[in-house]
Amino acid sequence: VIEIKHLRKSFGANEVLKDIDFSVNKGEVVCIIGASGSGKSTLLRCVNLLEEPSGGEIIYNGENILDDKHDIYMYRTRLGMVFQQFNLFNNHNVLANCTVGQMKVLKRSKEEAEKVALKYLSVVGMDAYVNAKPRQLSGGQKQRVAIARALSMEPDVMLFDEPTSALDPEMVGEVLKVMKELAESGLTMLVVTHEMGFAREVADRVVFMDNGVIVEEGHPEKIFNDPSHERTREFLKRVL
Ligand code: ATP
Ligand code: MG
Repeated sequence: VIEIKHLRKSFGANEVLKDIDFSVNKGEVVCIIGASGSGKSTLLRCVNLLEEPSGGEIIYNGENILDDKHDIYMYRTRLGMVFQQFNLFNNHNVLANCTVGQMKVLKRSKEEAEKVALKYLSVVGMDAYVNAKPRQLSGGQKQRVAIARALSMEPDVMLFDEPTSALDPEMVGEVLKVMKELAESGLTMLVVTHEMGFAREVADRVVFMDNGVIVEEGHPEKIFNDPSHERTREFLKRVL
């Protein structure tokens, strides 16, 4: 679905992403792991153009979307994003959180948007909370609504940036369970995570980043049981 070539990103003199090459195929779940500051969030933010890459290509449907002529707005509507800090609209109830984007961006009618929203709220087990305001929900419930909101836009790829790291420990499981079900349903997912159990169990491919480069990537069995690089071994020793 998306192919990244020679992607670079600098903040001033600080080169945070150095010549990143990787791709996400349709139906695949790719987990990005790596130490704090290694550039994982920046990579995700470059993929959906929340940050402007300093160089390289992002190929989507066979075209480099960084070409001037390309419709970046269209591209961005094809990606769903779930953040660490939910980013729900606090003044809207759960249902409205999942319909405003559909109506505004996809020009769906209110009726249609609500139908789609209900479908995805039930996928994440939040359909009983349509009238609740975000402040009435637990962190895990908020994150599940955020996932339903992103799914309601029916994106080609879902990007997750540490969706469980702001949650109380007892709520991590319910969010990971929803993500696992989505993975099994064939959704294309790119997930930055510190949850090694999830990466190991759910990922088709694990990408290990360190200091702005992809050190290695491969099947989770390979990365976790028999990594090729010393840097990967050291990282895993610290987090497992
Ligand atoms: P974490 O696991 O803590 O979330 P990360 O792998 O997601 O870390 P990034 O957030 O991508 O790491 O940050 C990589 C580097 O880029 C860090 O050195 C950070 O200070 C720097 N950086 C990120 N965003 C900006 C910004 N907007 N301006 C300047 N520097 C930034
Ligand atoms: Mg990050």
